[in-house]
Amino acid sequence: MENQTRVRFAPSPTGFLHLGGARTALFNWLFARKYGGTFVLRIEDTDLERSDQKSVEVILEGLKWLNLLWDEGPEVGGKYGPYFQSKRLHLYPQFIQKLLVEGKAYYCFCSPEELAERREKTIAQGKSWRYDRRCLFMEQKEKEQLIAEGKKRVVRFRIPEGVTSFVDLLRGEVSFANQELDDFIILRSDDMPTYNFACVIDDALMKISHVIRGDDHISNTPRQVLLYQALGFPLPAFAHIPMILGKDKTRLSKRHGSPSVTYYRDQGYLPEAMMNYLARLGWASGEEEKEIFSEEELIERFDLSNVTKHAAVFDLDKLNWMNGVYIRQRDNASLSRILVEILQKRGKITPSEVTPEMEGYCEQIVAIMKDRMKYLAQIVEEAAYFFEQEVQFDPEAFQKILMKEGTEEILSRCLEEFKEIDDFTAPRLEEVVRKQAENLGIKAAKLIHPLRVAVSGKRVGPGLFELLEVLGKKRVIERIGLALEEISRQRLTQSSSG
Ligand code: GLU
Repeated sequence: MENQTRVRFAPSPTGFLHLGGARTALFNWLFARKYGGTFVLRIEDTDLERSDQKSVEVILEGLKWLNLLWDEGPEVGGKYGPYFQSKRLHLYPQFIQKLLVEGKAYYCFCSPEELAERREKTIAQGKSWRYDRRCLFMEQKEKEQLIAEGKKRVVRFRIPEGVTSFVDLLRGEVSFANQELDDFIILRSDDMPTYNFACVIDDALMKISHVIRGDDHISNTPRQVLLYQALGFPLPAFAHIPMILGKDKTRLSKRHGSPSVTYYRDQGYLPEAMMNYLARLGWASGEEEKEIFSEEELIERFDLSNVTKHAAVFDLDKLNWMNGVYIRQRDNASLSRILVEILQKRGKITPSEVTPEMEGYCEQIVAIMKDRMKYLAQIVEEAAYFFEQEVQFDPEAFQKILMKEGTEEILSRCLEEFKEIDDFTAPRLEEVVRKQAENLGIKAAKLIHPLRVAVSGKRVGPGLFELLEVLGKKRVIERIGLALEEISRQRLTQSSSG
């Protein structure tokens, strides 16, 4: 028999793919993989004003980047499609009709203005407002008349009396008193179904067995359960996973580092690190101190019973640490490809500059930088000198190190020596520099510091000899020459002004 485990990720395309959304997708995906089930992607785009195509693309791209590939959904199809709610509009009216005929739903003609007025009055009396069911009790004749006149109307679901309970796989039984619930709208005046309604119809028609979503939806669930019951659909299992909060325990937002998945991709975080990090956000395998999990390990160990019941806290430092671990595990060629993409996206190189030579250069760069990296864009942010035509000197480093007495002599000598080297490799360069220090009767550090500033503009960076090797003879010679020119220029202006 076909595996009955069917889960879904159902984003609304109203912006970027949020880390919280990505984690919801991940938990669904892990659950499907673990139980040999099906992972469905459904785009909930019935809110035409807020949904757009760009967001759909960003969401699909983000999921693909994280390797959260769906078994059914956009681009891949499946037997329960279409997978865009906007293309399923023909499916909803029959269920609206059924509820209307059975008296489980009713037309409501109250305009937003009328509702606002009544709401205000009720609240002014110190009472809480729920829809007052004015249209539920309207005479049939009057209703027909209004419909004939073409008056705007919505369809509301009639909440029955009683208590609605469901079992949440994380928190056990959850109950809501129905009188707390409003006769909510299921069909808007423009004939578009609302989220709660379309979601239930689609989950039922798509035979979703487990609804795993953020706990910001927990108050929607009793409404949805009532709709399942009203329509005679079997109930799926529910699991509401706790939110992701920032360190200050407020909802994750820009203030805590970007909440968008694409941002992390563009900063050079690795998808496997992101997957591992997101999985650990609110889930623990129970093995103390184990943080690094491969995809297979996650699938094997993941279970809803290990998802924490309290909110997860997003910790950028931990993500950085974890990404560093994965960077050091990756081969340099694949890191280089990511770096090349980042360089292009940031306009540091043009597409025509992406040559095998440039790729090789980037590969050498990541090889000497990866030990200290948190994310690959750090190379662009902190070591732009690899790609600059002219080195930008850090003013303080320039004054303190290059303007010191005797620096010109040191740099000129090194320059002459370097010109003679054919195998421009770190060991050879080290030998030459140390020899030179000996000849001058000074410590090697006295050569290393000015050389570093001359070729990189900075006081800190990777080991100098590796750095020189990677920059290569041509760049090194040019840069030392330019540094010497800049030193003379500065000396001249200093002496003329002083
Ligand atoms: N479209 C809803 C959202 O993005 C889906 C909620 C659900 O999973 O039911 O929040």
